[in-house]
Amino acid sequence: MDRRGFLRGAGACVLCAVGAGVIGRRTAPPHASSDLRAGERTSTAKLRAEAQPDGVFGVKTKQPLVGLTFDDGPDPDYTPTVQDILARFDVKATFFLIGVNATANGRLIAAHLAAGHTIGNHTLDHAELELLTPEQVATEIDGGERALISAGAPRPRLFRPPKGFTDEVVGVFADAGRYRTIFWTECVERFVDRSPSVAEGVQAVLERLHPGSIVLAHDGGRVDAPNRRVVDRTKTMEALPLLLDGLRKMGLRAVDIDTLLRSGEPNR
Ligand SMILES: [Zn+2]
Repeated sequence: MDRRGFLRGAGACVLCAVGAGVIGRRTAPPHASSDLRAGERTSTAKLRAEAQPDGVFGVKTKQPLVGLTFDDGPDPDYTPTVQDILARFDVKATFFLIGVNATANGRLIAAHLAAGHTIGNHTLDHAELELLTPEQVATEIDGGERALISAGAPRPRLFRPPKGFTDEVVGVFADAGRYRTIFWTECVERFVDRSPSVAEGVQAVLERLHPGSIVLAHDGGRVDAPNRRVVDRTKTMEALPLLLDGLRKMGLRAVDIDTLLRSGEPNR
């Protein structure tokens, strides 16, 4: 079924695709009222919020907290370094894991849990969900969840679509799985990878952060599947201690997403 047909008859299709046990939890049917033009990608927070109004982009809080999240792991090349840095700064974070990477690196998941970090679902193999059929979207979200659980994680309650690409179909399946979809306020690599130096990139990130912001960084540089490119995260590893040190100096504390959500109201 194509995406438009899915949204027209959404209730019945959700029932078919994700099982009779979950449909009753959805309080309102999805609608196809997005302002997105056909073929347009949800590449900005504004477009993502239009496509998935339940998504969280930050938290309105009076507490001096910033949510810290990492995507695309676990990755044996980088995740242990991130774990060491977070331990050094006594910081807990939320890791959005790719299912196939979790399957290949269960030992790193055990280390996340032992350190008190939270684990979220980042799909089975990092597909760009808005390009998929509804059935494929369901397979990506459910498959990611199953892979995480099989690798030793508790059932995830937080979800992040790869690259932030989303639409109403993705929202239907995330909601049906009782996920809270977490986007972000600032992406570390967007600044660090484009600045003359890592320190200048970190400074640019810090200047944009305030209580309730959600920071995205990446501890994964690849998807454990054929024909996927490998991304060098060396600059992120250099940036992380500078970022955490800078937050401290600003009087802000980096926390996992659950802690941030408990401190105030989601900022949509
Ligand atoms: Zn990702």
